[in-house]
Amino acid sequence: MKIGILSTNKNLYSTKRLVEAGIERGHEMPVINHKRCYMNITSHNPSIHFKGEAIEGIDAIIPRIGASVSFFGTSVVRQFEMMGVYSVNESVAITRSRDKLRAVQLLSRRGIGLPVTGFANSPDDTEDLLQFVGGAPVVIKLLEGTQGVGVVLAETKKAAESVIEAFSGLKANFMVQEFIKEAGGSDIRCLVVGDKVVAAMKRQGKEGEFRSNLHRGGSATLIKITPEERSTAVRSAKVMGLNVAGVDLLRSNHGPVVMEVNSSPGLEGIEKATDRDVAGMIIEFIEKNAKQGKTRTRGKG
Ligand code: ADP
Ligand code: MG
Repeated sequence: MKIGILSTNKNLYSTKRLVEAGIERGHEMPVINHKRCYMNITSHNPSIHFKGEAIEGIDAIIPRIGASVSFFGTSVVRQFEMMGVYSVNESVAITRSRDKLRAVQLLSRRGIGLPVTGFANSPDDTEDLLQFVGGAPVVIKLLEGTQGVGVVLAETKKAAESVIEAFSGLKANFMVQEFIKEAGGSDIRCLVVGDKVVAAMKRQGKEGEFRSNLHRGGSATLIKITPEERSTAVRSAKVMGLNVAGVDLLRSNHGPVVMEVNSSPGLEGIEKATDRDVAGMIIEFIEKNAKQGKTRTRGKG
């Protein structure tokens, strides 16, 4: 097969590993910089171009879309779908997961455990909002943040009010969440491929840090997850419509709660912590599932 990886940098660990795993299995693995793709949106022959040439003959794509180019990146994925190319994660699913609020709303509908979360527009409603989530300490999150940036722990009511005031003043969208203190600055990243958790790691924030993101200096170790955690992760990926997902869970007093579902999970941390060939499993999933025109989005917009 010819499997295109949408990535802006072919030297990134995840991109390199996917190329390697594909080539090992006899596939052609072009890396396509989606930022430089442009498209001709026409009914009969929709196409994608790159530096003057039409991109042709691609059987499947693996989108690795960074948060800073979500809008343009998902439009490229959608165009591939319009051309009948199979995408391991569809554009709508990527868009769903990028918005943390939309994601928790969809997950809540299916009864998935979540930290209690509040959302408001007017600063006049701050008092009620803080009450919903059990009062300070609370976590305040920008809806489109990533890698721990834009996630704030407000330890007191006064601090929470100031942060809310500041975010509102900047016209930023944010949500307020119950702080899961008992997680102790750690979370669990479950790497889901298809209907299985293929690898799981525990991430621990560095000393004095409640955010466990590896980009914030957290460290990763192999962990054995419970059947409940396993099914929560698989169901969460399914609700979002993602075939490949990094589902982040916290161990709370009331069972596993989902914080977010990532559509382009990094492979370096998880492969190194677990010694699993996650890239290979993604390629195998594509081999089994990719078919021309097998995109739910096709024709539905
Ligand atoms: P990002 O997309 O920036 O990674 P997350 O929602 O995953 O944002 O939050 C970053 C980190 O902050 C998480 O990995 C977790 O360690 C910590 N965290 C987030 N929300 C909570 C919460 N409600 N309670 C406790 N810790 C949290
Ligand atoms: Mg996260």
